[in-house]
Amino acid sequence: MGNLDTNTPIDAPTEATTGSAATPTNKIVDLRDGVRVLRSWGQPSGTAAKVYKARDLDQLREVVTSSTGRGLIPRGHGHSLGDAARCGGGSVVTLKRSLANPAVTGLNWETQRATVRLGATIAQINEELLVRGWFIPTGSTTSQSTFASALSTNALGPGGTVDGHAHSSVQSLVAMTSNGEVVTWERDRHKSQPSVGTQDGPIDIDSGSGFSAFIGGLGLVGVGLSAEVAIEPVTTSWMVVESVRSTSLAETLQLLEMASTTSPYATALIDPSATGLKTGRGLVRSARHAEIEDLPDNRQAEALKYDERIPSPPKSVSSRLLDPRIAHRVHKLRYYTWPTTPIVDLQPIAEFFHLDDVTGKYPSLVGPLGMVRYAFSIPQASGPHIASVLDAIRETGSTFGRVSINQTNSFSPTMLGHSRPCLSVTIDVANPTLALTDVLNECDQELVALGGQVALDSDSRLDAALVSEMFEKITQWREFKAQIDTHQRLASDLSRRLAL
Ligand SMILES: Cc1cc2nc3c(=O)[nH]c(=O)nc-3n(C[C@H](O)[C@H](O)[C@H](O)COP(=O)(O)OP(=O)(O)OC[C@H]3O[C@@H](n4cnc5c(N)ncnc54)[C@H](O)[C@@H]3O)c2cc1C
Repeated sequence: MGNLDTNTPIDAPTEATTGSAATPTNKIVDLRDGVRVLRSWGQPSGTAAKVYKARDLDQLREVVTSSTGRGLIPRGHGHSLGDAARCGGGSVVTLKRSLANPAVTGLNWETQRATVRLGATIAQINEELLVRGWFIPTGSTTSQSTFASALSTNALGPGGTVDGHAHSSVQSLVAMTSNGEVVTWERDRHKSQPSVGTQDGPIDIDSGSGFSAFIGGLGLVGVGLSAEVAIEPVTTSWMVVESVRSTSLAETLQLLEMASTTSPYATALIDPSATGLKTGRGLVRSARHAEIEDLPDNRQAEALKYDERIPSPPKSVSSRLLDPRIAHRVHKLRYYTWPTTPIVDLQPIAEFFHLDDVTGKYPSLVGPLGMVRYAFSIPQASGPHIASVLDAIRETGSTFGRVSINQTNSFSPTMLGHSRPCLSVTIDVANPTLALTDVLNECDQELVALGGQVALDSDSRLDAALVSEMFEKITQWREFKAQIDTHQRLASDLSRRLAL
């Protein structure tokens, strides 16, 4: 972006910029939006909690520090599929106004860093950055997820030579602890910035541990406020996407491996209707950012405009897809529309990174029993295991939704997520049958044996006894949480269910 010649100063939300002295109008009683039953995405039932909307730091501090009893959890848009963003009998708080808008509060073109508000959605951040010629890989998630949630769930999207985790570009983040203090946690900054003052006195907190505990920490160690992120220059808001279909799981993984080591971004969609030797066949998509000359003339004038539309099928078909036989036929038909030899096309950024937004437009796809997402990561060498999971789920007679695989080639700082290079698999199951529970429990045991982990943000059924076996840094995370959340104010349905 050679034509950009001035810098906007980095402007993290501080007491001075976003807070104001407490006034009668921001007293806690006025923040409360009532008690509501909160569901997660795809879940037919929910739990009741008080809902607060914090519009500035003072309001947030008041809500957080006055939390008692069943505790409080920060909530974005409730798009996570398990119970991570619910707190039955307690409270939830969402970030509004000055904690969410504008999404980008500072840009430094020399250092290629931006400061973003974590209460903003991924779509907001993309929209504000792209128009200025910058992009941050923000994981995949739904475009309506907040960036705070993407970090707290260790969200992962298409990755390759660029790490597909939402946190990969984050250099440091600002959070409010449950004692109401605003702290900065820096990536890899261990033991260098040790002091965090709280009303109970200084605590020896290691900044790098704070960062690692927050990433994937499901909102349980602090409320994320803003982050300083590395940004990369782009000249268009389009992707050049190469797609090719595979005929087996082995070929899918081979193509994904190749694409992930040569392209910035790659991902695989799986055809769950395939059985036997064809199980795991799919479509491997790899992509790079389009240059202006890749665009047709009529698109060049608005090359950096963020287009969040995603092509979707007609709504009339969606409820019939709950029938496993119909879904099977549709998955199979779709597979045969995929290209047998590589084809290259142009897609808007949203279409490539947020293809799953389409699912969100079809509430009827979820069905009366809700949707189960079995999301897990396994070491790359254990790829063949994916076929046995798909076969076992098929045997239950449940209906497959979208199935995808991403490959991660880098190590991740998270303590509660996959921290090593791995394959991340997401299997959506609608209309779950009773047999599914036992099958997934068995799959969990196999995961432990392989050194894999269930993605906690999508989970609603994991046996708490397996948590310590799956997450090697769980003790470290628990110690950090005990140290930072001294009054145990941050809690969720998930943290209680899994005894986190
Ligand atoms: C159709 C669909 C597709 C999806 N695709 C993907 C995908 O490709 N990859 C992927 O990784 N996930 C995916 N997800 C999961 C989902 O997008 C993520 O869990 C996302 O982060 C949820 O965002 P949210 O704002 O709705 O968060 P919520 O569900 O409201 O909260 C999620 C977690 O974030 C925490 N949190 C929220 N705000 C804060 C804050 N300010 N500070 C600290 N913690 C906070 C909450 O406490 C909770 O633990 C998908 C979900 C759907 C419905």
